[in-house]
Amino acid sequence: MEELLVRWLRLAAARVADQRELLTDLDAAIGDGDHGINLDRGFRELVRRLGTGAFPADPPPLVLESAGRVLISTVGGASGALYGRAFQRAGASLVQLTPAGHGPEAVAGSTSAGDDDPRPAREAQAVIAFGAAVEAIAALGRATTGEKTMLDALVPARVAFAAAVEAGAPLPEAVARAAAAAEAGAAATVPLLATKGRASYLGERSIGHLDPGAVSSALLLRALADAAAEG
Ligand code: ADP
Ligand code: MG
Repeated sequence: MEELLVRWLRLAAARVADQRELLTDLDAAIGDGDHGINLDRGFRELVRRLGTGAFPADPPPLVLESAGRVLISTVGGASGALYGRAFQRAGASLVQLTPAGHGPEAVAGSTSAGDDDPRPAREAQAVIAFGAAVEAIAALGRATTGEKTMLDALVPARVAFAAAVEAGAPLPEAVARAAAAAEAGAAATVPLLATKGRASYLGERSIGHLDPGAVSSALLLRALADAAAEG
């Protein structure tokens, strides 16, 4: 899983850079016009640190926790805290799956774990990590679905992902289902009234626009699906 995470972060950074103007324009309509700039700054810094070796390429819990820390300190805005916390909690959820008596280092090389490895398969681990990420955002943002936030993309994505894994789908297919659900969820934010974040200050004027955070969440999951399909 560690290789996939690094491929994902690099691809996500490239997609965020490509879509920087779009995300910023969406945020200009119902926020303060910095969402694309914020995310691009954070993901650019992640890739820079990966390149200098100042960032761990494995094990997965450490990659996710480190990514979260970088995002919190470099993205800024509501989304920096929310995405950053999500990555950190996703990483922490995987540490907890480490067999008793072993530190996080025991997770290194998990993709080649033998049959006697008591940890769940990587699909099941990913369900746990994704769930932890979404719950972290809901808790920190004190938000739920229907409030015109990133959760309107992420919650249906989490449901679709868990259902696909439950049905036996391999990771790439399950992530592709999650990305499709996130894209549909993001598109469905247009008629919603924002009740959380900056967009809520607009009241009824928030209606009729895409939520920038829901769009960036769908973009990040599509990048994960594409990274998983390559692996
Ligand atoms: P800021 O609003 O501080 O400028 P960004 O523009 O980077 O931060 O991110 C805005 C996005 O963050 C919104 O489109 C929304 O999806 C998400 N967001 C804002 N507040 C919340 C919240 N309380 N809960 C969940 N998501 C939120
Ligand atoms: Mg903003």
